[in-house]
Amino acid sequence: MLPLSSYERILVLSPHFDDAVLSCWSVIQDFGEAVDVVTMCGGAPDDGLSDWDDTCGFSSGGEAAAARRNEEARALAGRVGSFRCLPILEAAYSGGEGSGERRAILRDCLTGWVEAHADRSRLLVLLPAGAGLNAADPAAAPGKPKGRGGDGLAWARSLKHRLYLRRTASLRATGLLSHSDHRAARNLALDVLWGSGRADVALYEELPYLWSQPADRAVLAVSRRLGAEALAAERPVDTARKAEALASYASQLGPLDPAGRLIGPAHLPARERFWLLTRASSRGG
Ligand SMILES: [Zn+2]
Repeated sequence: MLPLSSYERILVLSPHFDDAVLSCWSVIQDFGEAVDVVTMCGGAPDDGLSDWDDTCGFSSGGEAAAARRNEEARALAGRVGSFRCLPILEAAYSGGEGSGERRAILRDCLTGWVEAHADRSRLLVLLPAGAGLNAADPAAAPGKPKGRGGDGLAWARSLKHRLYLRRTASLRATGLLSHSDHRAARNLALDVLWGSGRADVALYEELPYLWSQPADRAVLAVSRRLGAEALAAERPVDTARKAEALASYASQLGPLDPAGRLIGPAHLPARERFWLLTRASSRGG
């Protein structure tokens, strides 16, 4: 189990309203008072309506943001040490514009949090791992079949390859792709924190994306890029209490989870998965 009791303060970076409760509930349930939740995409757009907010029944993005702030307050009030949201728009509204501003806001928030707790010796920041299907990742696909036609083995390889392509196409039609806001939150925060030596960093696996694709491959890619070791850990979840907190997010739960698996404690995973990133060289040996 991730030895969280050795940390004096824990920050959960939540890309959207709901991600902290969806994926880091085991941390909130056990260390609530020591946990600060920051929602990155807490901004309210001036105009427009994303497909997602339309699906959730809102008439504008501003209305959706206001409703979700209220839901977040209901879910987290009294359950964590503090929660706040940053004035950053979701990718669905920013369209990737203003990434420099997004970076600056997040950097100020993270460095401010670290400085505010500089008197404490052990700080931990939890970041989304990027679970979910990754259509752009060439590592996801097996190599093109080798060998010449006419040979039985090549024919079998070719068939396997075609079956694989068909399977991934149908997965993409029904599964959840990893979210660009989650990957952005992770990468921007790692730019600030990794190597600063001022806080430990761990990745968390996200619901419901993990139901389409667990985070292992994303974690491997991140740790390779950083030259880090990723120490896997699982934490038990009080699923009844988690379902109770999740019920606060009424506007998103239905569309996010048509099968209703996020509402029933019996369907929620009994464990949440984390990976503590450490410098490969720091472990000695
Ligand atoms: Zn999210």
